[in-house]
Amino acid sequence: MIDSYKHKGLRKRLVSTVKGKGINDENILQAIGKIPRHFFMDSSFLEFSYQDKPFPIGSGQTISQPYTVAFQTELLNVKKGDKILEVGTGSGYQACVLIELGAKVYSIERQKKLFNKAQKFLPSIGYRPKLFYGDGYKGLKAFAPYDKILITAGAPIIPDDLLDQLKPGGILVAPIGKGDVQIMKKVIKDNNGNFIEENHGAFRFVPLLINKAND
Ligand code: SAH
Repeated sequence: MIDSYKHKGLRKRLVSTVKGKGINDENILQAIGKIPRHFFMDSSFLEFSYQDKPFPIGSGQTISQPYTVAFQTELLNVKKGDKILEVGTGSGYQACVLIELGAKVYSIERQKKLFNKAQKFLPSIGYRPKLFYGDGYKGLKAFAPYDKILITAGAPIIPDDLLDQLKPGGILVAPIGKGDVQIMKKVIKDNNGNFIEENHGAFRFVPLLINKAND
């Protein structure tokens, strides 16, 4: 795969688009400017790679819109060295953004095909999140607790297991809602184990699924 001047130019434009929509964190903008998003998509869709839109990645799933990736990342308030659990690896793009910010990333995907693809592809471009095939509703107890937890699919409720796996002082960001539209929630676990919940607008995500897929 080639990352040409043309791709780099399109990426610069994407960064200004995302900035224009209100993302101010320079580190996040730099990560978007650095990661070759077209590598994460089928080569026949190259011309769509640097539009600020979600896009199908197979198995009925999508790579999130860059603005949404940036918005969720900003809400997470990522610090260097943070241990972050991502639910919904998908293409792996979001995991790479978190790695660029200095996080140690654990990511779960329930679609075997997408898991296998990410497992092969991400190290080939120099990113090494720890990837797991499984059900993100349960989180990943073996490596808990986490500084931050990010759900990248629309969940009907915030799974209790995930709240349990958050450190005191930790942050969970997730689009929550039962229908097509979800509300972006930021949940902060205080040092006494109480939760403070904030709402950050409406978004549309593919659903977080409970039953195993036919893959
Ligand atoms: N973060 C991804 C976007 C993911 S789309 C990216 O950057 O490309 C949401 C992903 O969540 C899909 O890949 C979907 O298969 C996965 N998913 C859905 N339900 C899940 C579950 N219960 N556990 C783990 N992953 C799940």
